[in-house]
Amino acid sequence: MATTTSTSSNGSGAQPQRRVGLVYDERMCKHSTPRGEDHPENPNRIRAIWNKLLSAGIPHRCVVFDAKEVKDTYIAQVHTNNHINLIKTISSKKLAPQRNRVAAKYNSIYFNEGSSESAYLAAGAVLEAAEKVAKGELNSAFAIVRPPGHHAEENEPMGFCLYNNIAIATSFLLNQKELGIKKVLIVDWDVHHGNGTQKMFWKDSQVLFFSVHRHEFGSFYPAGDDGHYIMMGEGPGAGYNINVPWENGQCGDADYIAVWDYILLPVAREFNPDIILISAGFDAALGDPLGGCCITPRGYSIMLKKLMEFSKGKILMALEGGYNLKSLANSVLACVEVLLEDKPIAESIEVYPFESTWSVIKAVREELSAFWPVLAEKLPEKLTSRVMPPVQIYSSQSEDEYDDGPNTLSEDLQEDVTIPLSKLKVSDDAHDADQPAAAAASSPAWRSELSKIDVWYASFGSNMSESRFRCYIEGGQAEGMRRPCKGAADKSEPKEVLWKIVPHRLFFGRESTSTWGPGGVAFLHPASSDQEKTFMCLYRITYAIANISLLLFILEQFNDVLLQENLCTDTNSPFFDLSALDSIENEKNISLEALKDGWYHNVLYLGKEKDIPILTMTCTVADVEDFKSGKTSVCPPAKEYADTLVRGLVLGKQLSQDEAIAYIQEASTKPL
Ligand SMILES: [Zn+2]
Repeated sequence: MATTTSTSSNGSGAQPQRRVGLVYDERMCKHSTPRGEDHPENPNRIRAIWNKLLSAGIPHRCVVFDAKEVKDTYIAQVHTNNHINLIKTISSKKLAPQRNRVAAKYNSIYFNEGSSESAYLAAGAVLEAAEKVAKGELNSAFAIVRPPGHHAEENEPMGFCLYNNIAIATSFLLNQKELGIKKVLIVDWDVHHGNGTQKMFWKDSQVLFFSVHRHEFGSFYPAGDDGHYIMMGEGPGAGYNINVPWENGQCGDADYIAVWDYILLPVAREFNPDIILISAGFDAALGDPLGGCCITPRGYSIMLKKLMEFSKGKILMALEGGYNLKSLANSVLACVEVLLEDKPIAESIEVYPFESTWSVIKAVREELSAFWPVLAEKLPEKLTSRVMPPVQIYSSQSEDEYDDGPNTLSEDLQEDVTIPLSKLKVSDDAHDADQPAAAAASSPAWRSELSKIDVWYASFGSNMSESRFRCYIEGGQAEGMRRPCKGAADKSEPKEVLWKIVPHRLFFGRESTSTWGPGGVAFLHPASSDQEKTFMCLYRITYAIANISLLLFILEQFNDVLLQENLCTDTNSPFFDLSALDSIENEKNISLEALKDGWYHNVLYLGKEKDIPILTMTCTVADVEDFKSGKTSVCPPAKEYADTLVRGLVLGKQLSQDEAIAYIQEASTKPL
């Protein structure tokens, strides 16, 4: 959006320094994985934030305090006694032998001997900071806490969250009548839906809960319908629950600011909150490994600045997600600087929202207009016709106050991107994409910054049928599929299709599949052998989209195919990233920890074609040993599955019908 509004500042020095609280407590680092396993939600997150603030000289300009453990009576306003008992005792010695088993019962949860204390401190820190803001002791505050809270439900820890910190603080504020807080606006800008918070205030008109999150029709974590915009609250709370569900990743500053301008701010003006609590996750930040969105530190500062016009600027921010330490720390710094009212913010963004963003905004406005008449107006066509193509692009020439600071990406990210980019063949197809004239005219320079990195996705199984493979990209349902595929975020068709014979063994294994019934499915032996010949159908698809000048890359079609191949709906884990693509030439195959339960979790490198790497997905060498020993059965394919493979080979003009049948027959009977 090319709107420009100047916002207030204390540039003249006339305004008194605002009192901003910061809670940080090293004891919240005690919660970590039981055996030190890698995990995105780890103690270094809050340390990175604190170190960044220290190096910017922020803490000495703020009111800094340690965390205090929250009292059970306050937790009990939003959580069950069972839940409190679980979190209170889970770190005890007595429960140590069961701890991992208990954690496994829940969705994305780990416990260790420090979990209880950290959870009590996190909730206590948010509550105390909120109280100080409500009382006016502080103008605003940032609680740098972990574990995060917004996924935690009444009776269930979930999604890295043990206690719902923001909900505990909200109910506390409303219950302490002397604080005079009657209306609370919760803004949840974490990339994930705040399912726990939504449920806790579902019927409550004193709490306006607003969440903007990736949803992708219910497939993004926490999957399901809870984050849909039709979920608006119930009874007295009807209309007080607002969800803005993105239909795709890659949303950035322009998309979020459009949602602020056309949904959140008009409603907030009507609601007129006494205080604002922000579920401040930073996993929608540019470079975050889980979020896949593109908010810059400047974007966060604009979003925050716009909220400061309400509730006399009484704002409490509580950390939720955010897993790229650099972007996390830089985004928090940008926000605290806004709370201190350090700098004027020129709200000028030279990019436009996605078309899908406008359609989501329109749908949300329409649905909510029964409760908030201010949303009933139709958005002007002139506004909504300005859209981005489905690739997030940033102007490389915009000058802002963060040019040398928080807006630059991490060095490690630079390495990740620049090294493989220098080696890879980069096509410039993106330049030819249909770009709306308005976007192109306003900012021509960025177009040359955009590049696509291609790979060959090679199939030896049912995806040899092009119509089937296209469903993974374009979405839809081919013959024999039990349910429709979601497709990739980028639905553009493969740029090229060709065939190749590779010296690897094709075989069939496992008892049955849900799609094909009894019978094995195709695997490719990861080790090559001169005796073997397997037909592979190669599709040239997009591996990543890179904006070289901003060192931004977005994993693309290949990863979406990988997820669908492994029937994985939890897209909440990083999988085959750019550094993996860079190293696979040497390592030949890379087993993906994030997809370890999928049968096709091993990405295998099959050389190059036209200087572009050929990758396929199969089992690991260790899995082959299990097939050989009989631990996993070797099994010929079901008739329908075999027919599909034959059809692929025949339609691909590789073999005649009889030859194809013989080829499949041989692969399914020859001993491993
Ligand atoms: Zn999150």
